[in-house]
Amino acid sequence: MDHVQGLKCMICGAEYGVDEVMYVCPKHGDEGILDVIYDYGLIGQRLTREKLAADPTGSIWRYKPLLPVKADSPVPPLQVGWTPLYQARRLAEQLGLQHLWVKDDGRNPTASFKDRASAVGVVKAMELGWDIITAASTGNAASSLSGLSASVGIKNMIFVPETAPQAKIAQLLVFGATVIAVKGTYDQAFDLCLAATKEYGWYCRNTAYNPYLSEGKKTAALEVCEQLGWDAPDRIFVSVGDGCIIGGLWKGLKDLVALGFIEKMPRLMGVQAEGSAVLHAAWQKGTEEIKPIVPHTLADSISVGIPRDRLKALRAVRDTEGEYITVSDDEILEAMRVLARGAAVFGEPAGVTGFAGLQKMVRQGRISPKERIVVLVTGNGLKDVGSAIKASGAPYLIEPSLDDLKSLMGKLTRSWN
Ligand SMILES: *Cc1c(COP(=O)(O)O)cnc(C)c1O
Ligand SMILES: [Zn+2]
Repeated sequence: MDHVQGLKCMICGAEYGVDEVMYVCPKHGDEGILDVIYDYGLIGQRLTREKLAADPTGSIWRYKPLLPVKADSPVPPLQVGWTPLYQARRLAEQLGLQHLWVKDDGRNPTASFKDRASAVGVVKAMELGWDIITAASTGNAASSLSGLSASVGIKNMIFVPETAPQAKIAQLLVFGATVIAVKGTYDQAFDLCLAATKEYGWYCRNTAYNPYLSEGKKTAALEVCEQLGWDAPDRIFVSVGDGCIIGGLWKGLKDLVALGFIEKMPRLMGVQAEGSAVLHAAWQKGTEEIKPIVPHTLADSISVGIPRDRLKALRAVRDTEGEYITVSDDEILEAMRVLARGAAVFGEPAGVTGFAGLQKMVRQGRISPKERIVVLVTGNGLKDVGSAIKASGAPYLIEPSLDDLKSLMGKLTRSWN
């Protein structure tokens, strides 16, 4: 890992060698999130746009020289990342935009963006010789970890709030994780998991605690820019809970600027659910202090009362001259329908929240039609079919008779006209 210079505290700026600390800045405890520092001169010799163009690797590992892993470390066999970036022409037209792309990260092996982070987490665990990984999660981080772990034979201890959706729990169980459902919130499950990490000495995959995870998440920004021929978009819309994804995207973009692969920074647009908008509130006030809340939103993956990656998340938006936006649960459900019908990408509520933010800004007349816009869809809609049905209504129920069908068709045709 000669390309990794060290780990730098987001609070005090102290730097540590990778062998000196495992997770956080010793001076700042669990708050002292570390950022991985690279030697871009060295990376620039190993990774060029030309080499990438010739590289057939269809996963995040095409960027291995830019990830905090050893060059010869084995990687999980699953295809993580290199998800499609669709040009959504019909949807763009509907919104009055000229250039709109949708990146479907529901196409990852366990159907969410989290696989990018889990893949790196699992490689780090293998490098460091751990055989049990623990995580707290609203669902996707854990189900992703359990899938990636199953692919290499590592055990998992998983803490989820008991309210996590069934599909995500099913993934955990089927991949063989030990699942501990906590009678409490995600934030409480997170704290219990950190305590367990210290008590039992398991390797911890928690967002904003393990510094390597946002490095996995940054690969989405690398892909977007490469898929657009290194002509970076004007804005990237993404849903925000803990803030690890948006912080990771920012890191990826900074990497690309440092390497000279892109010229300008896209604006990062962080979209939060109204009932879970702690970062939005802090951003509006211009502070990095957060006020914890009890979150309420049907978008379970971004239902977070204490955003753990707040510094990276707030600086990502501030530094790129982006914005935080909030949307209601109804706007999220509407976004689910519009995106599915306009671009055939089916996202879970948190998966489409970035798009809900775009739709809202378009309605407010705050997006110019010429802007090049990328929307990240972070999780697949099959993760939470209850919300999908809530968004789109129930089927028509009839007797198995043509007469019943005819009377239904009569009503339908009248309503269509
Ligand atoms: C985790 C998650 C998010 C939010 O990511 P953060 O890093 O917590 O901000 C958004 N969408 C989905 C589907 C997720 O699983
Ligand atoms: Zn520190």
